Amino acid sequence: MLRIRFLGGCEEVGRSAISVQCENRSILLDYGVMMDHEVGFPVHIPPKEIDAVFLSHAHLDHTGSTPIFYVTGKIPVYGVEPTFRQTELLIKDFINLTGYYLPFEYLDLQSMMEHCVNVPYRKEIMVGGTKVTLLNAGHIPGSSQVLIESDGKRLLYTGDFNASQTQLLQGAQQGYGDLDAIIIESTYADQDHPDRGEMEETFVSRVREVVEKGGTVLVPSFGVGRSQEILCVLEAHHFDHPIFVDGMALKANRILADYPGSLRDPDLFSRAMRRAEWIEQWNDRRRAAKTPCVIVSPAGMLKGGAAIFYMESVSMNKKNAVFLVSFQIPGTPGRILQERGQFMFRGKMRKVDASVEKFDFSSHCGRQELRQTLSGVNKEAKVLVVHGSEGNCSNLASWASKEIGLNAQAPKTGQTVEL
Ligand SMILES: [Zn+2]
Ligand SMILES: [Zn+2]
Repeated sequence: MLRIRFLGGCEEVGRSAISVQCENRSILLDYGVMMDHEVGFPVHIPPKEIDAVFLSHAHLDHTGSTPIFYVTGKIPVYGVEPTFRQTELLIKDFINLTGYYLPFEYLDLQSMMEHCVNVPYRKEIMVGGTKVTLLNAGHIPGSSQVLIESDGKRLLYTGDFNASQTQLLQGAQQGYGDLDAIIIESTYADQDHPDRGEMEETFVSRVREVVEKGGTVLVPSFGVGRSQEILCVLEAHHFDHPIFVDGMALKANRILADYPGSLRDPDLFSRAMRRAEWIEQWNDRRRAAKTPCVIVSPAGMLKGGAAIFYMESVSMNKKNAVFLVSFQIPGTPGRILQERGQFMFRGKMRKVDASVEKFDFSSHCGRQELRQTLSGVNKEAKVLVVHGSEGNCSNLASWASKEIGLNAQAPKTGQTVEL
């Protein structure tokens, strides 16, 4: 029997964590943090009750609480290169920036890094008598879906996944064979993504238009994943004006350059990285803000980082533009800018003169791909929908039960499901 316990990430996006008990072994899938308004952690589980941790990918909502087990524990943590180096980069930044009390410190992160085991996609790993295989998830470099086979049962956890290929990554590996259950994310269960090719073309031609008229385009973007995708899109479409990149993206790029196997087109990636100019000092920042160019800079939702500086210098001029390329969580400065064209400058809310546009460069499946994925699953499989807003988890589950006759539900945090 497999016993699945949901420790977080149910009807919410954040603090993803699931424990799976099989054959006297207990496997933990992700142990993330909630970053929404306050920092939040998954349901507690004692380290002595875990035999192995598998990280689906580096994002903090999947990894941010994991160092907690290394205050005392010595549990192996598995993932696909370059998950761990990106995880280390993100958690280090999280420890440095959060004003909130964390139940672990930098030393515990280091100790966690000493217990990392890199595994390639599709290699079977044995945890006792349980077989675990990681499959490409197409979400960020190193992202994985986790297939657990034990006691004659097969369970697939999609993690965050994207079935379509992007400039940076191959699409997720699908065709799972017969499953007893699938735990599936539902971030975009209520939205279809636009055609990627068309959107890339619109994006690049809009950027070109602004720059050729002497303007500067600010692209607020998360340093791990999205920034690299934007650079690859510009390169693939032969954008030949200056490109500046600021913030954590530089470190993330250096990591990815060491793992060309995790990228769809390593040549395109290295050309894109060589083309960009890296900003490391304030002088460069001021120079970039005055140049007709593209600036790719964190934070993706304008909650901090160098993008705040660029907003001040770029957004008050009509010939400039701010292009939002990530999902903007309600309540964030990015969302307010997207909806109302306003931004808080030194404590004052002001109307922005630069043109503000939104482009959907999502690295998650859209509604149609989520439905297609479930339509491809065998009829006996239980469907457990997680990682979505309250409406999204339950809507995808009820679509799966009503439209394709699957036994589907949106579990609650703390709930146990047995197979
Ligand atoms: Zn993610
Ligand atoms: Zn996530």
